[in-house]
Formats: sequence, structure tokens, C-alpha cells
Amino acid sequence: MIGIVGNGRDKFTELGYNRAYNIVVNIINSNINEQICSGNSPMLGIDYLVKQNTPSNRYIEYNPVTLKWNNGYRERNLQIAKSRIVYVIVANKYPKEYKGIKFESCYHCKSMNKDYNNHIKSGACWTAKQAIKLGNESQWMVINNFE
Ligand SMILES: [Zn+2]
Repeated sequence: MIGIVGNGRDKFTELGYNRAYNIVVNIINSNINEQICSGNSPMLGIDYLVKQNTPSNRYIEYNPVTLKWNNGYRERNLQIAKSRIVYVIVANKYPKEYKGIKFESCYHCKSMNKDYNNHIKSGACWTAKQAIKLGNESQWMVINNFE
């Protein structure tokens, strides 16, 4: 099983989202004998691309049991972390029109001594951190949102 997770739709420009689409499709098509899982996030974004582009017989969806961190998103993310590899697809910088909370850098990646200044903070990084703790692989793919 392969996990594909990343930023929500509002963290990508249209150009960045098109680039993310190509990467997601490439991962799905490069691993035709494996199941692909994601988290069905209501923020759409990467989770939505995975859901839309993975053949249904290969798609595994992990949903939070509640909309809270404990007994909810946390456990959902831990299911995804059991993948043999977790791909984290994140944008390099916030779009100009982004109105949400902005973080200076990614504190999840900082805590792992990984590159934390080159992408937007994402819960996907937390999931990848758990995958590493479980002995699984993680790979970050940083999308340039701009020309
Ligand atoms: Zn990160």
C-alpha cells in the first residue's frame, strides 16, 4: 500500500494544483499492482486528486471516526502511516489569495531535522513522520506554486 497525502486545495495556485495532479497521477500509474490510500480530507487538495484518479479497486480511503484530533484525524493519519511509502505533496509558498492561518515554516519537518523552510506546513508531514517511526519510507515532493 502506498499513501499519498498533502496540502489542501487552498494552499495551491491553479498552476501548482495542475502540477500536483500530474505528480499524483504519475505515482498511481507507476505502481499499478499496489493499493493507494489517502484521507478523503474535506479540504480537497491532494486527497481529492487521489480519490478522483485512483481506480476504485485500488483505492483505500481512511476517514476520521470523529472530526477531532484524538480518536479522529490522529488515528486516520496513523492508518495511512502504515503504508510502505508515504508521499507528501506540498506547495512551496502560500498563494497570494490564501486567507487562512500562515505558518513561517513546517514545524513537523523541523522536529525531524528535515527541510522545513521549503514548503507549507501540512498535517501530511505529521503522517510521514509517523510512517518513518514505523520503519516505512516517506518522500516529500514540493510543488512550485509559481512560474
Ligand atoms: Zn513539512
